[in-house]
Order: sequence, then structure tokens, then C-alpha cells
Amino acid sequence: MNKYRTYLIFGAPGSGKGTQGKTLGTIPRFFHCACGEVFRSIDTRTPLGRKFVEYSSRGELVPDEVTVELWRVRILHCVEAHIFKPDIDHLVLDGIPRNIAQAEIMRDIIDVKHVFHLSCPDRSKLVERLKKRAIKDNRLDDANESVIRHRLETYERESKPLLDYYGKDLICDIDATEEPIAVFSKIVAIAARDSELEAAAAASAA
Ligand code: ADP
Repeated sequence: MNKYRTYLIFGAPGSGKGTQGKTLGTIPRFFHCACGEVFRSIDTRTPLGRKFVEYSSRGELVPDEVTVELWRVRILHCVEAHIFKPDIDHLVLDGIPRNIAQAEIMRDIIDVKHVFHLSCPDRSKLVERLKKRAIKDNRLDDANESVIRHRLETYERESKPLLDYYGKDLICDIDATEEPIAVFSKIVAIAARDSELEAAAAASAA
């Protein structure tokens, strides 16, 4: 199987991954999948749904094997339904992989073109954004400040090492405190340049 050509939207909770991923996913030939959304779509009465509520309400990550398996099944479903067409589409992932163990499991499935790191060293800005989101999107895991703090710690400890894992050639640091359109214009400029390079390489191979 050819690996999926993939862009990762990466950053702390509240950095705007979902907004940017969703926007990029509206462009033809880009397919967006947010891991948190996949979890939230599961019936909370099922064992996996209960597991999600249990971990996310504490601000912790759901165990790796079940997470990646759930993601894999969702992607395969989208391929079978022709919603995601891996031969012509790029995959845009946000929220996965979220630690090195997940990245290792996904290594044979995704070919990471770039990692868009939405950087926001001022954590108090993130806390403010998450509190607003709790009200707007009815997100229980955003409602409580101690859960928010725990999620930020989980990010620092488990997710941030992925920046070294993928290395500086793949990482694009983008200031997450800028307006969404400014952040998006940086993402889209890099993705557009990659597409041009891919098209040129395909033309010279033909
Ligand atoms: P945020 O971007 O604010 O962290 P998400 O919607 O991406 O929010 O995720 C919400 C919760 O879902 C996480 O706090 C975590 O409990 C769970 N989750 C999402 N993606 C993963 C993942 N790849 N691995 C483990 N748990 C995950």
C-alpha cells in the first residue's frame, strides 16, 4: 500500500488546530480528519465511548493502541466511501499522532510532508481560548480550569517531543496568536509550494 501523503496540524490544546485543519480540508484535494472529532462521534454508551469520556474528562490521552485503531478504521471507511481518495488527496490530520508511540504505529501508514506547528508559548492565552470554547462548543473537557491545566501538561510531556521526532526539516513554526487568516495563509503557501513540486516531479517522471 502507498502511504498517505499527510500534513499534520500540531499544537497545544487551544492553539487552533481544528480551525486550521477544517479550513484546509475545504480545499479540493485535501481531506481533513480530527482525532478528537472521531472520538466525540462515538456513542458514549459503548465501551470505547466510555473510555473516551473517562480519559478526556481527566485531561489525559486515550490509550495509544485503541486510538490509532479507531483512527485507522475511520480512514479506511472514508477511503471505501470515496470521501478520501488517497491517490489524489492529501490527508490533513489534527490531534493525531499525539505522542511518539502513536507516530511509530502510524509510520507505515502516513508519509508526513510537513508538520504545521501552531506555536503559542503564552499558555494563559490558550487557557482563555479554551474557556471560551467550553461555552461555545459545549466541550466538557474545556470547562474546568484544572482539567485544562492537566491537558496542557499532557501536551508538554507527551506531544511536544514529536517536534524533535519529526525534525526541523518537516516542522513549520507558525505563530498561533495571529489572526486565523494569517495563520492559514502561511499553511496554504507551504502546501501550495509542495503541490507545485509534486506536480513538477510527476511531469518529469512521465
Ligand atoms: P484539543 O485540541 O483541545 O486537545 P481534541 O478535540 O483534539 O482537543 O481532543 C480532545 C480529547 O480527546 C483529548 O484531550 C484526548 O483525551 C482525546 N484524544 C484526541 N486525540 C487523541 C489521540 N491521538 N490520542 C489519545 N487521545 C486523544
